[in-house]
Amino acid sequence: MAIRPLVILPDSVLRQVSDPVQAITPEIKTLAAEMLETMYDAPGIGLAAIQVGVPKRIVTIDLAKQDEEKQPMVFVNPEVTWSSDETSIHEEGCLSIPEYYEEVERPARVKVRYLDLDGKQQEVEAEGLLATCLQHEIDHLNGVLFIDYLSRLKRERVTKRFAKAARRESAA
Ligand code: ZN
Repeated sequence: MAIRPLVILPDSVLRQVSDPVQAITPEIKTLAAEMLETMYDAPGIGLAAIQVGVPKRIVTIDLAKQDEEKQPMVFVNPEVTWSSDETSIHEEGCLSIPEYYEEVERPARVKVRYLDLDGKQQEVEAEGLLATCLQHEIDHLNGVLFIDYLSRLKRERVTKRFAKAARRESAA
């Protein structure tokens, strides 16, 4: 098991559309385990495979608080099959856009169909933080970032800031 390096804005890898997983192989299970490890290390509550540079439709989530027992969840090929008209606003952050938080409005409840690591089809009806987190991570699989929901001004400002930081880093 290894912690994988995170892909950070404005890396164009984040805009790639991820491919469906064809079969739950040992490699996929290892990738999911390493994604969880990377997510816990960051620390974060959700991660999409593309954020560690792998364009496969896999999402890991754990919403347990620090003093609670871990509740790792893995979603393979997740798909929103229904979303409520009712919306809610949550402050979101992203491991690929570190230390940047903004409020985003999304459907308050969603149904998500996915495969578990045994290759069984599952469906979850989510609300609250899980609904937000699932939508945020599934967006990643389609090359969409939460900053895409912000005003153009805000999005350009944060993108510029991270582009500048990336240039500084490559110059160092
Ligand atoms: Zn994210």
